Amino acid sequence: MLNELWTDWLRHIGGRPAYRIYGKAKPETDWRVIDIYATTRRNLGSRWPLWDGTCVTWSAQIIAVGWDFALAVWREQSENPASRQYPIEVSGGRIRDAAGRKVPGRDSPTSEVLAHECGHTWQALRLHSLYLPFVGMVTLFREGPHAWNYFENQASKLGQFGGIVAGSVNPELKSGFVS
Ligand SMILES: [Zn+2]
Repeated sequence: MLNELWTDWLRHIGGRPAYRIYGKAKPETDWRVIDIYATTRRNLGSRWPLWDGTCVTWSAQIIAVGWDFALAVWREQSENPASRQYPIEVSGGRIRDAAGRKVPGRDSPTSEVLAHECGHTWQALRLHSLYLPFVGMVTLFREGPHAWNYFENQASKLGQFGGIVAGSVNPELKSGFVS
């Protein structure tokens, strides 16, 4: 219930999403449609828009990213589309390895970050109103071997990105509205 109200409100203030995607976590059987909201505030200005800080999962249905990130995923997906039959997952179950060097087989690094965020949407679904205060805080610690890395590790291990929903891409993204 709270998740729905929160999602409705975020949609209300967010306007039109950059696009919608199919996402879920491995334990789920059904794919969910998730809105990807892009804002210039989350642009990184880096060649590697890989850091988790550029993306925030606000609810089970909403992920906020930078326009540059949204564009990078869209370009990767144009070349190498994920699908619900062949979803993108985080290679080796860890995002962090990708940041400094390209891991063999990691052809779609930004799409893998989105898969990680899909893992967070599942956590939001399960934890309801506890998600933001709890995971939102813990997420700052990111992946690692410690107990407080649990949610980050789990998001990387279980998140699946099943592709961009056909016909959902915002024309502003296509026209290169990225400043
Ligand atoms: Zn994360």
